[in-house]
Amino acid sequence: MADTLSINFDELKSYTFEPKQQLELDELLRQCHTYFEKTDDDLIYRAFALSYLSHKNGTRASGEPYYLHPLEVAHIVIKEMSLDDVSVAAALLHDTVEDTSISLDEIRQEFGDVVAHLIDGMTKISGVLKSRESKQAETFMKLLMSMAEDLRVVLIKFSDRLHNMRTLKHLPKAKQIKIATETSELYAPLAHRFGLFRLKSELEDLSFRAIDSQGYRFISRKLREKKDAREKFIEEFMQPIRDQLYKSGFNFEIKGRPKSIYSIYRKMVTQQKPFEDIYDLFAIRIILDEPHAREDCWRVYSYITDTYTPIPERFRDFLSVPKANGYQSLHTTVFSRTGVKVEIQIRTRQMDEIAEKGLAAHWKYKEGSDGNKSIDRFVHWVRDVLDNPRPDAASEFVQDFTLNLFQDEIYIFTPKGQLMTLPKGATPIDFAFEVHSEVGERALAAKVNGKMVPLRQKLQSGDQVEIITGKNSNLNPDWINDVVTHKAKSRIRQFINMKERKGIEEGREIWQKKAGKLNLEISDQDLVKVANKLKYHSMNKLYYDISLGAFDVNNLTKGVKDFLSKGRIEEEKSRLERISDEEMHDQYYDSARTAGSMRGLLVNGDLTDVKYSYSKCCNPIPGDDVIGFLSRNGDVKIHRTNCNNIGYLIKNDSERVVEIGWPKAITAQFIGAVRIIGEDRVGLVNDITNLISQSLKTNMKGINVNSEEGMFEGTLIIYVEDIAHLERVIKRILKVPGVKQAYRFE
Ligand code: MN
Repeated sequence: MADTLSINFDELKSYTFEPKQQLELDELLRQCHTYFEKTDDDLIYRAFALSYLSHKNGTRASGEPYYLHPLEVAHIVIKEMSLDDVSVAAALLHDTVEDTSISLDEIRQEFGDVVAHLIDGMTKISGVLKSRESKQAETFMKLLMSMAEDLRVVLIKFSDRLHNMRTLKHLPKAKQIKIATETSELYAPLAHRFGLFRLKSELEDLSFRAIDSQGYRFISRKLREKKDAREKFIEEFMQPIRDQLYKSGFNFEIKGRPKSIYSIYRKMVTQQKPFEDIYDLFAIRIILDEPHAREDCWRVYSYITDTYTPIPERFRDFLSVPKANGYQSLHTTVFSRTGVKVEIQIRTRQMDEIAEKGLAAHWKYKEGSDGNKSIDRFVHWVRDVLDNPRPDAASEFVQDFTLNLFQDEIYIFTPKGQLMTLPKGATPIDFAFEVHSEVGERALAAKVNGKMVPLRQKLQSGDQVEIITGKNSNLNPDWINDVVTHKAKSRIRQFINMKERKGIEEGREIWQKKAGKLNLEISDQDLVKVANKLKYHSMNKLYYDISLGAFDVNNLTKGVKDFLSKGRIEEEKSRLERISDEEMHDQYYDSARTAGSMRGLLVNGDLTDVKYSYSKCCNPIPGDDVIGFLSRNGDVKIHRTNCNNIGYLIKNDSERVVEIGWPKAITAQFIGAVRIIGEDRVGLVNDITNLISQSLKTNMKGINVNSEEGMFEGTLIIYVEDIAHLERVIKRILKVPGVKQAYRFE
C-alpha cells in the first residue's frame, strides 16, 4: 500500500504549500501559540510538510485526503490534551512510519530522538492491536508498558483514537463495532484512570452510538426535547445564588453540566429506571476564576446551603482529600424549591481544567503536585506488575485494573495520621498490604478507630486503621476473597502459588519414595489413568492432596498395583466399550480411507506412482481380489471385485476400470471388521479383547456390543496386515466359548 516516496528532507523547511494547506498550517501554528508557552515553529512547519507530502496520495474512508487525519489529531493534542510542540509534531507524523515508506531513522534524523520515540511508541501500540485481537490482556500490558516510558505516547494515541471514533461512521458496520468495542473496553477505562473524564465520556458515547445506535438516538432525542425546560429550570434555580455571588464580588462561571448519553443509558440499565428518573437529577457546576482560591469554594458552598436545603449524605469534600487521579472539587446535593434534587460542584478554574483534561493539564501547574504523585503511583503500579511476570499476570491485572477503575475510593488514615486512598470495599488486609507486603503477610488483627475488628471487615472512609502483626507469616490463602486491591491480591496469589508448588513437589516425592520401595514401575501416562480412576484429573492436585494428607498415598499405590496386574486391556476395553454406533461407523470408514501408506501401485501390470485410495463401500484388504477405477482427476479408487458398485461401474464406464495388483512390500495396517454372534455371558467381551491383544498381538480400534435376551451381537474393528491375518483372527474368535458365529463384516 505504501508508495515509494521520494522526499527531499532538506527542502521541508522551505516547502511552498498550496493556498489551502498554507491556511491549515497557519491555523495550526496559531493554535500552538494560543495554547503553549513556547512553540518551535520550524519543527511544526517541517512536520506538517512531511505529513502532507507523505500522505499526499492517500484518502480516508470518508473520501477526505489522508493528511487531514494527522492534522485533526494534532489539533486534539493541542486543544484537548494540552501537550507540547514535540507532541504536535509526533501527532502530525504518527502514521508515516506505519503507512508510508518513511523510516523511523529518517524521522529521527530530521526531527530528533523525542519525536522518533513518540512515533515509535504509537506504532508499536497499533502493531500490537492489529496482530492480536483476541489477546486483549497482552495488548493492554504492552500499552501500559509504553505508557510507563512516556505518557505522551498514550495521550497522542488517545487523540488518534478519538478522531477515528469521531469519523467512525464512514467505515463498514462490522469494523465500526469492532473498533467501538475495543474503545469502550480498553481506551475508555484507561482514559478514566488518567482522569480524562471528558475524553472518557466522549469515547463511551461514540462507542455506544456505533454499538447501539437505536439506544443512542432515543436518549439524545429525549435530551434535545427537554433542553429548553432544563435551561429554564437551571436559570431560575441559580438566580438567587448568582445575585449573592455578584454582590460579594465573585468572578465565576456557571455551567449546567450535561450528563453523557452513555452514563444515562448505563444508569437506566443498572438502576432499572426510566429516562425521566435519571434525567431529573440536575447537575450544575460553579467555576471560580482568578484570583479565587480553594478557600473561596467554601464561601460559595455556604451561600448555596443558606438558600437551599442540602442532603448531608451527598456531601463530598475532594478539596481537602483529592482523588487518586488528582480530581479536586466540592460536591453537594440540595433540594430546589420545587423539591427536585440538584447536584452542585464547586471548584476553581485550575481544578476544573484538571478534572476535564486530566493529569496532562497538571503538568502545567507545578505547584499542584498531586497529579504528578498520582502519575508516579500509577507508573509504579504498572512497573510492579511488569516486574513480577507470571503466566496469568496480564489477565489478572486487567481484571484488578477494571475492578479498581469503577470503584469509588475511600480514605483511610494510618495511626500516624497519614492519608491513604483505597478502593471502596477494602479491608484491613488491603490496608496492611498497602503499607508494606511484610505487614500484610504478618497481619494478625486490626484496630479500627481504636477498636479490635476482624481483618475481613470492610473499611469506611475516614477510618483510622492499625495493624497488629506477629513475628511470622500469618498469611491465609482464604484472604484472597477479602481483598480488592491489586497489590494484596497479587501477593496472596503469589503465596498460594508458592505454597501449592511446594506441596506438589512434596507429594510427588512421597509417592516416588513409596513406588521405589515397592518396586512399582509405571509410565507417567498410565499413572494419569490411575489418577483419573481415583477421580483426580490433575496430577498436581493429587500430589498436592497427598502432601496435605487429604489423600492417602497408599490408595494410589493400590490403584497402581491393580492397574499393573490387570494390564492395559481393561483400560482399553472400558474405553472401547463406550464407543457409540455412530462413532464406530465414522471411525471405521475414516480409517479405511486413510490407513494405507503403500508406495506405488501396480496398474495394468506396471508399478506407478499414481494416487490411490480405498473405496469405502467394500474396504479392501491385501489379499482381496481387487480392481481399480480411474476417477476423472486421474486417481485410482480400489474396490474389491465382488463389490456391488463395481459391477455397475464396469457396465457403464468400462474403459476407466483398470487392473491392479497389491504391491509386494506392504507395511501399512488395514482396517478389518469382524461380526461376532454368540450367547451372552459375563466376561465374554473381556475374553475376546484379551485374546486379540494378548495372544494375537493385534491392535484393536473399537468394539461395539449389543446384548439382548441372552444373545450377544458385536462388531470388532481391528488393524490387520492382510486377509490372512484377518482370517487367523476370525478362526481364533470362533474358539472362544459362547461364540456361535464370526465372519468378516462387509
Ligand atoms: Mn491515525
